[in-house]
Amino acid sequence: ADRPRSDLEIARAAPLKPIAEVATDRLGLTADDLIPYGRHKAKLDLDRVADLASAPRGRLVLVTAITPTPAGEGKTTTTVGLGDGLNAIGKRAAVCLREPSLGPCFGMKGGATGGGRAQVAPIDEINLHFTGDFHAVTSAHNLLSALLDNSLHWGNPLDIDTRRVTWKRVADMNDRALRHIVAGLGGPAQGVPREDGFDITVASEVMAILCLSTGLDDLQRRLGDIIVGRARDGRPVRARDVGADGAMACLLRDAMAPNLVQSLEHNPAFIHGGPFANIAHGCNSVLATRTASALADVTVTEAGFGADLGAEKFLHIKCRQSGLRPDAAVLVATVRALKMHGGVGKDALGIPDPQAVRAGGANLARHVGNMQRFGLPLVVALNRFSGDTEAEVAAVRALCDTAGVPLVVADHWASGGGGAVALAEAVDALTQEPTPEPRFLYEESLPLAEKIEAVATGLYGAAGVVIEPKVLRQLQEFEALGYGRLPVCIAKTQYSFSADPSAKGAPDGHMLPVREVRLAAGAGFVVAVCGDIMTMPGLPRQPAALRMHLNTAGHVDGF
Ligand code: ADP
Ligand code: MG
Repeated sequence: ADRPRSDLEIARAAPLKPIAEVATDRLGLTADDLIPYGRHKAKLDLDRVADLASAPRGRLVLVTAITPTPAGEGKTTTTVGLGDGLNAIGKRAAVCLREPSLGPCFGMKGGATGGGRAQVAPIDEINLHFTGDFHAVTSAHNLLSALLDNSLHWGNPLDIDTRRVTWKRVADMNDRALRHIVAGLGGPAQGVPREDGFDITVASEVMAILCLSTGLDDLQRRLGDIIVGRARDGRPVRARDVGADGAMACLLRDAMAPNLVQSLEHNPAFIHGGPFANIAHGCNSVLATRTASALADVTVTEAGFGADLGAEKFLHIKCRQSGLRPDAAVLVATVRALKMHGGVGKDALGIPDPQAVRAGGANLARHVGNMQRFGLPLVVALNRFSGDTEAEVAAVRALCDTAGVPLVVADHWASGGGGAVALAEAVDALTQEPTPEPRFLYEESLPLAEKIEAVATGLYGAAGVVIEPKVLRQLQEFEALGYGRLPVCIAKTQYSFSADPSAKGAPDGHMLPVREVRLAAGAGFVVAVCGDIMTMPGLPRQPAALRMHLNTAGHVDGF
């Protein structure tokens, strides 16, 4: 029987070019600029990256989405498809994506390299190990843990309070059994016993630092600024105090160099860094985006989750810290997500239902309004699925007409760049005019609690925030330590504008509960944890790993 080809089968069938050829033909780089990792992956030389820091930049386009279903609505797929579409209409375009984490790869979601005809390749290599960046982040993070425990072991000269160590260990794996552990058991020769735990590598502050650093000096300084816990007198203890920053920077040096691969249509794709979009800012590295923008006329980049989380953090954290400025945004919508917001359960999303699409339109309208508040030129891309009916597509068109925003139906998943030509033309037209500075929702000088409130009321439709006195005191303490000007990084569910994942559509008048706050002094933001946020996910009952194996040709198969 005919079955649709899997993403892996489509990717394998597409012959790839040597990566040096892509770099030369599409980006004007020379062989000296590249550090090859095999045939189809390369890192860019860091000296060249530094030289390009002050080069004139092309246009920058952010791909974001409406509030997603658990399957994902196709931001990565659309980013890749739009990049190919722009190249197809004669623009020199590059895409910038995050590196996949092994956790979701073996867990629920599978790979993170796009889908259908809009993929980056080689997908098995990108999804498994790639150029080793995540291993470097894991090692650098755990080196700090080891040095910290070593300091405790050798007489604790920093007088660290073992009950107030906030620096956990990390592994790039969904492994719930490691969430809470006791380290240092076994007697005096085995270290000092204390409660510890593991987060997944993408939740590490080191990952966020790698992605926000503008160069090696900045990297080393930020690593030193990491706060690992408190001394017995309450004073913060930093990575610099433990002496870890220099060696951590050494471990991360090569990982700081952006990685270059290609789409199935041989267009350049930078894939670099991969912080979570809840506990961190959810964007690929500043260095990769800056470098791509210096080499390409148009750079298309993705921010994690829906626009309430991803686009907001892209603007308030990544852009504000780095000076990068987007010229336009693409809001990805799907018929199935709109139906879900219109009240359809996840098992019935395949049944045609234009009325539910209309009912779900409130979610789209809220995101459109939010992007307009930032002052970003916007186009909605309907990422078409084969089961979408004409009546449903017409319903989306009517929604966009009402919201006063252009809609383009995009078929890149089925047809590659050719299916995204209309989207590419719309984006090109949208970015012809010089873009005004984005309007940020809050001033840097606003108190931290008011920054959280500004995002909650300005973007989430919340009536306000609920901050317990204990949490409020912590925010005031961060301000007293000199961190009051930092942006906030809100960790909440990606499935709703509110903190309640079951509240679909565009909930109004809810209160955002701030349960906990954490200071990421090296990354340069204050995390506000709102609801249950998993920093070490677990595997589902039937993990994707169970399908994976090496086939008779010795190739990776099954994802
Ligand atoms: P996101 O980046 O928003 O999480 P992805 O681009 O990774 O989403 O897509 C999630 C999944 O949906 C992938 O497996 C991808 O192959 C699939 N997908 C995306 N767009 C389509 C489409 N138009 N038709 C069918 N499957 C799609
Ligand atoms: Mg994605």
